[in-house]
Amino acid sequence: MPSRIEWPDGKQFAFTITDDTDQSTLLKTKPLYDVLRNHGLRTTKTVWPLRAAGKCITGGETLEDSGYLEWVRDLQKSGFEIALHGVADETSSRERVSAGLDRYRELLGNDPRMHINHVGQKEGMYWGPARLHAPASWCYDAYLRYRGGIREYEGHVETSPLFWGDLCLSRTRYTRNLVWHDINTTKADPLFPYHDPSRPYVNYWFSATYGSGIRNFLRLVEQQNLDRLAREGGACIVYTHLGTFPTAAPEFSQAIARIARMNGWFVPASTLLDHIGRSRGWTNVGKRRRELLALELKWMLQQVKSPTG
Ligand SMILES: [Zn+2]
Repeated sequence: MPSRIEWPDGKQFAFTITDDTDQSTLLKTKPLYDVLRNHGLRTTKTVWPLRAAGKCITGGETLEDSGYLEWVRDLQKSGFEIALHGVADETSSRERVSAGLDRYRELLGNDPRMHINHVGQKEGMYWGPARLHAPASWCYDAYLRYRGGIREYEGHVETSPLFWGDLCLSRTRYTRNLVWHDINTTKADPLFPYHDPSRPYVNYWFSATYGSGIRNFLRLVEQQNLDRLAREGGACIVYTHLGTFPTAAPEFSQAIARIARMNGWFVPASTLLDHIGRSRGWTNVGKRRRELLALELKWMLQQVKSPTG
């Protein structure tokens, strides 16, 4: 059995959220962040620094919207982590990605520590079948072909005009890959944060747990699941899209209040990943290839039964 992670200040477990910014607007999303803030949770919100020049993929405000920018800066000041969801809600060339990263730094004062790929951005970093190694990647390719998803992502392909691997490596630290159903993310994936020398443009990969859409989120944070997370001393990194939640959902406030009453460590995802890395080691999966392949096959089977994104 892997050793238990010790959490700071005698906390029993850790809980955070990575919020992909799809459909997020100041009007819709701020009230949900007010709930998190008032209950002492500090989580990770992704943003797009640039407004899409063409057709949006999902829609949502960007750092080019002044009210939204002001709010995002306020969140950052009060201890939330701001992270990258690609630079815009569309496919971006290397030049646009570079300009978007510069704009992000100019507006927020630092580079994002975390990047999370967004659906449909063809500059996705090792996305589609490239998320996995053979044989799991072959299965995932067939699965995407059947489901009709995009299969070619080129952010890591050096010969592509969409290549930005060197920028991802030098200007971000963490990238999300696999998403599980188990509330205990550190148990579902015992390897993260890990570096994979066969995918050199990402410093460290991490996993998350599925809570996209308010119904899935509420199911995930049912008390029995939280109690198990605390008993097991694990960490939950929720994958969700708060921009799709109803703005005035009392169930959300009640769930966050319940979580906040527990003896948990509620810090942004990168802070949590720093701690997990220091505690159980910065895994080099080049030396633990078999474990990674087993993990990928487990995820692939889960995808077929109950997809998580
Ligand atoms: Zn997205």
